[in-house]
Amino acid sequence: MFKKILIANRGEIACRVIETARRLGVSTVAVFSDADRNARHVEMADEAVYIGGSPVAESYLKGDRLIEAALATGAEAVHPGYGFLSENPEFVEAVEAAGLTFIGPSASAIRAMGLKDAAKALMQKADVPVVPGYHGEAQEVVVLAGKANEIGFPVLIKARAGGGGKGMRLVENPKDFGEALSAAKREGKASFGDGRVLVEKFIASPRHIEIQVFGDGFGNVVHLFERDCSLQRRHQKVIEEAPAPGMTEEMRQAMGEAAVKAAKAIGYSGAGTVEFIVDGTEGLRPDRFYFMEMNTRLQVEHPVTEMITGLDLVEWQLRVASGEPLPMEQDALSINGWAFESRVYAEDAQKGFLPATGTLTHLQFPEDLARIDSGVRQGDTITPFYDPMIAKLVVHGPDRATALSRMETALQQTEAVGTTTNIAFLAALCAHKEFVEGGVDTGLIDRELERLNTEGPVPDRIVALAAIASLNPEPAQNCADPFESFGLWSHWIAPKRVVHLVHGEEEHELAVSRVDARRWHISAYQDGENEIAPIELELISNDGGVMRYDFDGTISSVRHLHSSDSVTIIGSGRTYEFLLPDVSVGEEDAGVAEDRLLAPMPGVVKQINAKAGQAVEQGEPLIIMEAMKMELTLSAPRKGIVADVTVQEGDQVADGDLLLDLEPTDE
Ligand code: ADP
Ligand code: ADP
Ligand code: MG
Repeated sequence: MFKKILIANRGEIACRVIETARRLGVSTVAVFSDADRNARHVEMADEAVYIGGSPVAESYLKGDRLIEAALATGAEAVHPGYGFLSENPEFVEAVEAAGLTFIGPSASAIRAMGLKDAAKALMQKADVPVVPGYHGEAQEVVVLAGKANEIGFPVLIKARAGGGGKGMRLVENPKDFGEALSAAKREGKASFGDGRVLVEKFIASPRHIEIQVFGDGFGNVVHLFERDCSLQRRHQKVIEEAPAPGMTEEMRQAMGEAAVKAAKAIGYSGAGTVEFIVDGTEGLRPDRFYFMEMNTRLQVEHPVTEMITGLDLVEWQLRVASGEPLPMEQDALSINGWAFESRVYAEDAQKGFLPATGTLTHLQFPEDLARIDSGVRQGDTITPFYDPMIAKLVVHGPDRATALSRMETALQQTEAVGTTTNIAFLAALCAHKEFVEGGVDTGLIDRELERLNTEGPVPDRIVALAAIASLNPEPAQNCADPFESFGLWSHWIAPKRVVHLVHGEEEHELAVSRVDARRWHISAYQDGENEIAPIELELISNDGGVMRYDFDGTISSVRHLHSSDSVTIIGSGRTYEFLLPDVSVGEEDAGVAEDRLLAPMPGVVKQINAKAGQAVEQGEPLIIMEAMKMELTLSAPRKGIVADVTVQEGDQVADGDLLLDLEPTDE
């Protein structure tokens, strides 16, 4: 086994690798950029080396710096994590040329699977079923459109170097082919430096089922069963599970054998995943799965496999890379129970999953219910530089129903304040009938998006609790006596106070009164639209920022957090922020936003379709932005003349930055 390794990554996966290394007595070296100087992975490692600026191109993608850091600290091997340089064969060669071990497959194996078109051709030769499609050299629009017609619509255009759902376009109608092709090429070029594409049949009612494989340096390959990653949005995984619902022994064996065949065909060593697309129109059938791609690295969702096999895949990676044979043979491997993983992200599910940023002023996980893989702590900031993942919540149970309800509870008990998160969306997904029944396919989220995102109005009792909490500017911490713990409140028996709360579009003016030592009465100060009905609550305690209360005979609790101008209530997987408006300040000029195009998220300006003096129609696409993993078109807010374009193509912009001004109208 190695004595010391360097982890060429950041965030949760760096932390994950460090944990196993430490358990095995292997010393760890972390690397960090400017933005990550105080990051969790840096704190966890035995040593850490600064490698450059915050943008990934200046740090985590600088292979030579990473290798220098490994040599300088005396590390013997490099663990690449996922993303970044994990699937870069030149990096593997450079690591090896420096006399270090790459914890992963050989450069040639990565190269064989690196481009989707070549990989498919290779798999076809190795007798692994692939999706019907065109994987050839020709790239002209007429040729590709012709191939699409032969294959039959709908088709999928994929950047051959693509990954993470990027550079992919579904085309349902021949007339949309040209535009989709340009978009896929543009995304492929921008993200992977390769604008070449392939075209393949779009499988109807598809399920994404992948097989975890493991090889060693002695030609042995085993598979560790399947994961179902069908719950996706924009081709990105959202919740993964293992095993796959409805899986039969026959199908599992066929898929396992195909995956092992694929790995053996390229002399695979280390952890890898063979992804298949499954045509689920007639249930799971051994003749209805097709090779999609192989990810030659540890996958984000590897923990669900660890939960059902009881194994540590990072330990296997370290053992195999240090020259040991695979720890177990195929026959010794078995599945125990069921596991789910939810990817908790700083993103706005309500606004097309726009990535979000912010400082996590409060962060708490239900560690008793779920395994938490996270790269951030309370107080850390989600920056625009990296993947906005907050944590992976992983649960296990004896059966699917138990594991899934555990997942839902774990999400409801996860508290993250300071940025928008997808927690409520994930919790709604866990309760969704089709998912609960195991009826998953890759279109489920898109079809059900509206329902999954319907948060409904804020419950009256939450508004009431916020009103009470707002009267307690400095809640006493951890006070044993519930009355004492109300601090100011215990002396306050004034009959009535008026509280103003603003939640999104809703404004509340509430009368709050205390009936007796525990009971509170909250009602609308004046009758208005969407004002709450009168409500009475009994406060049982208020310890450590958590209010326990009795409402209509049911006892529950919520957390309340305070800032100078807001109070936040967290309960049942939802976070409600109420602003406490300074009523003396006048309303802002509501017309201003109409004249401007602001960046809705941090990102890069990709394309500008307008210039000063140009007349535009309302809804006309003016600027295309790109952030983390998506492209976004910003349209004219109204008809008018462009006064000024304040950015250039290629500019990095922050959330709220001005991009374009329209000339004011006379009205
Ligand atoms: P898939 O490639 O099939 O989507 P995963 O869901 O495991 O597989 O990984 C998500 C994608 O995003 C991968 O292509 C991975 O390389 C990329 N990725 C994930 N996290 C990061 C990160 N922190 N930095 C860069 N790329 C990342
Ligand atoms: P990436 O490298 O971005 O992960 P993949 O080729 O693995 O790209 O595809 C990602 C997702 O896109 C799949 O999980 C699936 O949901 C969808 N997909 C890919 N190929 C097809 C296809 N031929 N038919 C239907 N859906 C597909
Ligand atoms: Mg994939």
